[in-house]
Amino acid sequence: MDIFGSSGVRGVVNDEITPTFALQVAQAAGTVWSASRVAVARDTRTSGRMLADAVSSGLGSVGVDVDRLGVVPTPAAHHHAAANGMPAVIVTASHNPPKFNGIKLVGTDGVGLDIETLEQIETAVIDGPTPTAAWDAVGTQRSIEDRREAYIKSVLEAVDRAAIQAAELTIALDPAHGAGCFTTPPLLRRLGCEVHTVNADANGRFPGRDPEPVPEHLKDLCRLVKAVDADLGIAHDGDADRAVFIDETGSPIDGSASLAALAAEELTDGDTMVSAVNVSQRVVDAVEGVGATLELTPIGATYLAERITDLRAGDTAVPIAGEGNGGIIFPPFRTARDGAYTAARFLELIADRPASAVVAPYTGYHMVRENIAYEDTTHRDRLLERAQTWAREHSGTLDTRDGYRIDTDDAWVLIRPSGTEPLIRVYAEAADPERAQHLVTKATTAMDH
Ligand code: MG
Repeated sequence: MDIFGSSGVRGVVNDEITPTFALQVAQAAGTVWSASRVAVARDTRTSGRMLADAVSSGLGSVGVDVDRLGVVPTPAAHHHAAANGMPAVIVTASHNPPKFNGIKLVGTDGVGLDIETLEQIETAVIDGPTPTAAWDAVGTQRSIEDRREAYIKSVLEAVDRAAIQAAELTIALDPAHGAGCFTTPPLLRRLGCEVHTVNADANGRFPGRDPEPVPEHLKDLCRLVKAVDADLGIAHDGDADRAVFIDETGSPIDGSASLAALAAEELTDGDTMVSAVNVSQRVVDAVEGVGATLELTPIGATYLAERITDLRAGDTAVPIAGEGNGGIIFPPFRTARDGAYTAARFLELIADRPASAVVAPYTGYHMVRENIAYEDTTHRDRLLERAQTWAREHSGTLDTRDGYRIDTDDAWVLIRPSGTEPLIRVYAEAADPERAQHLVTKATTAMDH
């Protein structure tokens, strides 16, 4: 895929992601889909309206009617697509910094597009220009007023509302000034929670924090948890398809630990879980603990969704899938990441015990991550060649489905190029933090000598 990566296309606004580009992608998608109506959604970014207007114009110009959803979480656009049997275009750069924006495409089943359809659309963009409709056949637009309420209801109906309400939880919430500002606070209140918020005013400049929900951006939320004596802190990324948690003591919960706890609850013997090649040993332990099978894909929601769809088509039960960054998929609910649904499912777990106790069985590992910046593709290829040599000589089991992952008896290490930035990422995880650091240092030294 040249244009679309593993989570759509993203770039700097008016540099890589221009209104012209958005219009061309929309014309190509509108033609390849052959749908009469398509939904258009966006997150809170300053460029969102500009690009959503271009997308809507592009769709209209090839004769497609448009449902304008305005600012909604990415999972709410997936919901609208699935509930109404129409594809969707989402203008979002998810967790990237404010100057970025991007485009995600969703099929009529509410699942992110498969690689084959994305490639057809790419070809249409590259071949351009797309034939346009006659004056009396251009598309119309309508605004969908109840799209947030419809999404909130879909989540409320799919969780154990009575158990969460009975627990009378106090929640601290940080929706990152993003699309979750409009939906997660009312959802939590309707689940009977007392809700305290930070960064909950929709603002595409993201003044309170960067949209990526990593611990260094969540210090205000940790303080809020302590200040209001909350049972849990919840943080989203900019488009609210991810949820990460802070425990009742104000300490961040590793995204792999919350994924492992949810997986242990969801899986039974004979089930399959899908995760990516950087999966934490915490998740491996949880899956093995219940006798389920773990399937790994390259990193990125597109690859996970494709594998889940294949497995379920073959009658394999896949009750949960996801990555350690808070992006979790519950396929029986919907094959798409959903921050609010994930948060509500985690509330079910803390209804009868503290959050720290829920994740306690999954806290025994340490992950170390380092990045090596490269200047150009020649430099990148040289680094990867050295990584390959090092990985092949290292003892352990080598997995090359996305970069180089080596599993040894007591640790694993992964070297792979980032899908969105000019960086080689190096990860290692072990029960002993020094062992993890040692592996990362050895790998980076081998590449950078
Ligand atoms: Mg996201």
